[in-house]
Amino acid sequence: KTINLKAFRDSEKLKGLEYSIKKFVEKIGRTINIMEFCGGHTHTIIKYGIDQLLEGYIRFIHGPGCPVCVIPSSRIDLAIEIAGQKDTILCTYGDLLRVPSSNRKTLLDLRAEGYDVRMVNSSLEALNIALSEKGKRVVFFAIGFETTTPQTAVLLLKAKELGLKNLYVVSNHVITPAAIQHILNSPEIRDIGKVEIDAFLGPGHVSTIIGTRPYEYFSEEFLKPVAICGFEPLDVMQGVWLVVNQIARGEAYVVNQYTRFVSREGNIKAQKLVSEVFELRKVFEWRGLGIVPYSALKIRKEFEAFDGEKSFDVKLPPPKEHPACICGKVIRGVALPTECKLFGTVCTPQNPIGSCMVSSEGACAAYFKYKRL
Ligand code: SF4
Repeated sequence: KTINLKAFRDSEKLKGLEYSIKKFVEKIGRTINIMEFCGGHTHTIIKYGIDQLLEGYIRFIHGPGCPVCVIPSSRIDLAIEIAGQKDTILCTYGDLLRVPSSNRKTLLDLRAEGYDVRMVNSSLEALNIALSEKGKRVVFFAIGFETTTPQTAVLLLKAKELGLKNLYVVSNHVITPAAIQHILNSPEIRDIGKVEIDAFLGPGHVSTIIGTRPYEYFSEEFLKPVAICGFEPLDVMQGVWLVVNQIARGEAYVVNQYTRFVSREGNIKAQKLVSEVFELRKVFEWRGLGIVPYSALKIRKEFEAFDGEKSFDVKLPPPKEHPACICGKVIRGVALPTECKLFGTVCTPQNPIGSCMVSSEGACAAYFKYKRL
């Protein structure tokens, strides 16, 4: 279906929502702290000046951002180890190529040294490479929240169907609700300057797959309103309005702002594909959040012949981030990018030191692009 995006940037409607949000907040009598989990929302908020529009009324706390932001350097070390092996082609999505490993090396650096590292836009490109490069081991270094996991599931199902012997997947797929629960359970993360997160804006694209249902636990258990939102300015403003409205009335439930794409149940077909191929991983480390139990997916035993982590004899080193980079704090929402000493000087999108500056959805990249004076 065709969507007219102009309708989601209508200044008159924005002004109406601004007025109404401010009235609700005045009624509540204090600044409301809202965490936007997704970097796509952070970019919308900063790009369109929504944070400035609602200054003093709404405090936006930037959350984990995106899969590239939360991947620890040790997983990049793993990718580099695998890509450096003989007769191996490593394929992954674009931004990951620029994330520094523990010793500052990136997959792009490795490619410049002559190793075969390829950027793909779809998991199925890795399948085609495996079909055309039968003498090589082709590894898809899979990354993403729930939005890209079904694509990886399809890749593994196709590989099994075709009986491929030279295709492997390293799964770095992570789960959004598990990270939100971790944030809510962590006092250090939750109490930001003695203020608590009042509500969440949930990522609309993730909910196209998982629906809104997995968030109901947070509003019921933690009494936090959640609005699942789209990514245009009106989407975000309406999401803010929807949670502030609940706070003003002393209520907490999940509300679906992104009704043009999201349902309560989500995409059942995609969910079935994912559960056919993946199961929960007990231990997975996130940048900034540390080990978050059951927050990622591993490949099921039935597909273990394609599991790159089992097929390549590579051990995962402990993560070692740049000592001056505060990406971890930015991801937890306890520091702003501008509080980092390297922001905009040593660390820029051209020379990123941490993942939050690499990723096009990272908070540091958003501040660099839209907030530098
Ligand atoms: Fe890390 Fe750069 Fe962001 Fe600082 S500005 S936290 S070094 S990514």
